[in-house]
Amino acid sequence: MKKEDCIFCKIANGQIPSKTIYEDEEFRVILDLGPATKGHALILPKEHAKDLYELPEETASRVLLLAKEMAGRMAEKLHCDGLNLVQNNGEAAGQTVLHFHLHLIPRYLNDGLDMKWTHGEPSQEELEAVCELLTKE
Ligand code: 5GP
Ligand code: ZN
Repeated sequence: MKKEDCIFCKIANGQIPSKTIYEDEEFRVILDLGPATKGHALILPKEHAKDLYELPEETASRVLLLAKEMAGRMAEKLHCDGLNLVQNNGEAAGQTVLHFHLHLIPRYLNDGLDMKWTHGEPSQEELEAVCELLTKE
């Protein structure tokens, strides 16, 4: 997909209006149009990168600092009880918009949002094999 056709490029750079809660030279933070909970927001880099793999290292490091700042603001203003950071990469992971974005999902006790997964029960050998695979150069 060309950058010119990317909806989050257009939103991040102000060509399409959005409910913006923060903006600087590098990022725009917007409210999600289909929020999981009240205050669900997305951090969008203004420079197009498809996903975490494509994101420049400097942007990757700054995005978490910004998430921390937004988390504090959400706790203070929304009085949320918790917060999930979610970041999907690839169709298999549920990414629907192919421009990197970090979800900030404020959580409220008994908000009914279910993000649980079923836990596997790998053997020690299976864990060891994966551990080795991911540790080796
Ligand atoms: P993904 O599934 O790719 O991680 O998340 C995409 C998110 O973007 C979804 O939560 C969806 O509600 C949100 N979204 C999609 N299109 C728009 C839009 O045009 N404006 C806003 N504010 N959010 C959008
Ligand atoms: Zn884009």
